[in-house]
Amino acid sequence: MSETPISCRVLLVEDIESEARLAIAHLRRISGWRFVIEHLPRLEPSLERARTQRYDLILLDLNLPDGVGVEVCQRMHDAAPDVPIIVLTNQTSPQLGLRSLREGAQDYLIKRELDEIVLGRAIRYAIERHRAERALRASEERYALAVGGANDGIWDWNLRDDEVYFSPRWKAILGYSEDDVSDRIAEWLDRVDQQDRARFDAALNQHLEGRSAFFECEYRMITRGGESRWVSSRGVALRDRAGAAWRMAGSMTDITRRKQAETRLLHEAVHDPLTGLPNRLLFMDRLDLALRRYRRDSAKQFAVLFFDLDRFSQVNEALGQAAGDELLVQVATRVTSCLRPGDTLARLGTDEFGIVLNDVSGSTDVIYVVERLQENLSRPFDFDLHNVYTSASVGIALAAESYRLPEEMLRDADIAMYRAKNAGQATYAVFDPEMHDQAMFHHRMETDLRRALDRGELELFYQPILNLEDGQRVLGFEALLRWRHPTRGLVLPETFIHIVEETSLVGPIGWWVIERAIQQLAKWQRLFKIDPPLAMSINVSGRMFMSDDMAKRMAALLEDYEIAPSSVHLEITERVVMNHGDLVLNALADLRELGIQLHVDDFGTGYSSLTYLQRFRYDTLKIDRSFVASMTEEDDSSAIVQALVSLGQTLGMKVVAEGVETPEQLKRLRQMQCPAAQGFWFSEPLHQDDVSQYLREGLRDAAAAARALN
Ligand code: C2E
Ligand code: MG
Ligand code: MG
Repeated sequence: MSETPISCRVLLVEDIESEARLAIAHLRRISGWRFVIEHLPRLEPSLERARTQRYDLILLDLNLPDGVGVEVCQRMHDAAPDVPIIVLTNQTSPQLGLRSLREGAQDYLIKRELDEIVLGRAIRYAIERHRAERALRASEERYALAVGGANDGIWDWNLRDDEVYFSPRWKAILGYSEDDVSDRIAEWLDRVDQQDRARFDAALNQHLEGRSAFFECEYRMITRGGESRWVSSRGVALRDRAGAAWRMAGSMTDITRRKQAETRLLHEAVHDPLTGLPNRLLFMDRLDLALRRYRRDSAKQFAVLFFDLDRFSQVNEALGQAAGDELLVQVATRVTSCLRPGDTLARLGTDEFGIVLNDVSGSTDVIYVVERLQENLSRPFDFDLHNVYTSASVGIALAAESYRLPEEMLRDADIAMYRAKNAGQATYAVFDPEMHDQAMFHHRMETDLRRALDRGELELFYQPILNLEDGQRVLGFEALLRWRHPTRGLVLPETFIHIVEETSLVGPIGWWVIERAIQQLAKWQRLFKIDPPLAMSINVSGRMFMSDDMAKRMAALLEDYEIAPSSVHLEITERVVMNHGDLVLNALADLRELGIQLHVDDFGTGYSSLTYLQRFRYDTLKIDRSFVASMTEEDDSSAIVQALVSLGQTLGMKVVAEGVETPEQLKRLRQMQCPAAQGFWFSEPLHQDDVSQYLREGLRDAAAAARALN
């Protein structure tokens, strides 16, 4: 099996004809090769050819008419640096041989020892070695280019003598120039930031001991200026047969900018941009930490406080959002000043804040902090033109074994805060389990209530209001809300009306009541024509008056059902009368303008002063049933009821006494000249189907009574 011969283009430079022929003859006899030979007897033309032609090999005599010695080799190498050269000579001087090799020759052969075997082997080696050298050189050049051009510092560590090559860039990253750093490993290790040293050593040893595929570590190095820079180092070890690392090389990259960006992003991700406080994410994390600590060691008592700012939305509305923001920032500063460094204050919502209060010995400790905090917030906040006042209602949850998740504790602090808010502004409440049950109940009721309206579970009952002056004539009815609950049966408003009033249900349910009551009134007015026409009293929650289209909607309804405005009486509780702001006042004025009557409900239970009553002229006072109830007991209540009746008369208001249950009560009210009343003695609230009959009988009886009087 003969292989295809390797083809090789040879330039033979030889001035002696016989020797040239001999060399050619040897070449021809080398098996496995096919030589294309070009023979030139002089140096200069040979150099010219070598520069312009491609040869695979040059056979060069060093003794030429136009050139002698090593210089010949050197010049040829310059002319064709990529072509392997074999020197042919008659001289046996080893010096000359060595020098030729140094000047670029691959081999050096003595002419008289030449045969095809020697020459063949020399050519093979020369070509092979030359190719290897070229590859090595290319790779070295590439490496040098890469090191020079890269941003990375390079290190090459000989573990046997602890000598390290540090590239200029390696030194420059740390602010040093070439000569500042010796080749000792301590130059590196001693500059690793103490904070990262243990981690660095661990990563290094892991690789040196063969437990990781490569060494990789992000750590800080102390620079010449003494500051610390983040770097990332990677490297790989060379190992002996036994697996022991003896040399290790790699890179070092400056990652300070990336680290800074990462830190900033991390900070932004867990902080509130406005106040700079931790956000909910970080807060929950800290809370989780505190809870874990507490479960390991229950001596590590802590508390969660939750608060929002009373009247914050008013500040926002009145002074603008920028002022609102400013207030939040100032609040954050003040609250922080009340806390210790180990505590966490976080902004959890628009004006909601949470605090993890660490290392407290019990609720007394916590309450002390809360009181200090509330006192701090009660001082006026300084704004350009005004002083702004705010306060915080604070809910407190104390750490307990039963808490598994941070969310549970925050939830309970939240529940306690709502309890505190209901008790009045600028107060606090400590969570107890009963609150939780109530909150759960509240929550269930709210969800059920949302469905109640759609499912038609709400109903109105109607309680008659009677005239006491002429034979107990029916003046009208008060519409009272009932909830026909699928499992609880008929539910009275006191269990659910506060939920309606606190949630977004207030509008939909409120308007449903108003429309349904007006609709019924229209029906009954058509059936029972009396003079003055039957009236309908409707209870309206304070929050309904906050919407500015209240009067417009009422007017539209009255028109739709063809009802005179004076037949509609809106009952507003005394609390609403006392706490109303301008918004409510405006709505009331518009309703009054329409001709609708306004009644003050549950009068006497609040702390209303005459000033409030006089600020706005109400048509009727309804005396709360608690006064009427205690009237029979011959105590002061009689005097109070009498005073209230007189007060009404003095202020030019009508008076209705609520909750008349006995004939004695009725008698006394008559004596006091109370003009109207309502109560179980006359009738309980009636289902709509029973109202017609009640009216028929009532009107008949009244007519009979009137006849009897005449
Ligand atoms: P209110 O407006 O003072 O209504 C009178 C309450 O006294 C009614 O209770 C009525 O059933 C009860 N009552 C009447 N006569 C007597 C009596 O002789 N003795 C006793 N002990 N009680 C009597 P109800 O229906 O349970 O309503 C309670 C409260 O719920 C109402 O007090 C009112 O403030 C509120 N409410 C009822 N319906 C609505 C509504 O549609 N909207 C709003 N916002 N509140 C409503
Ligand atoms: Mg009422
Ligand atoms: Mg009442």
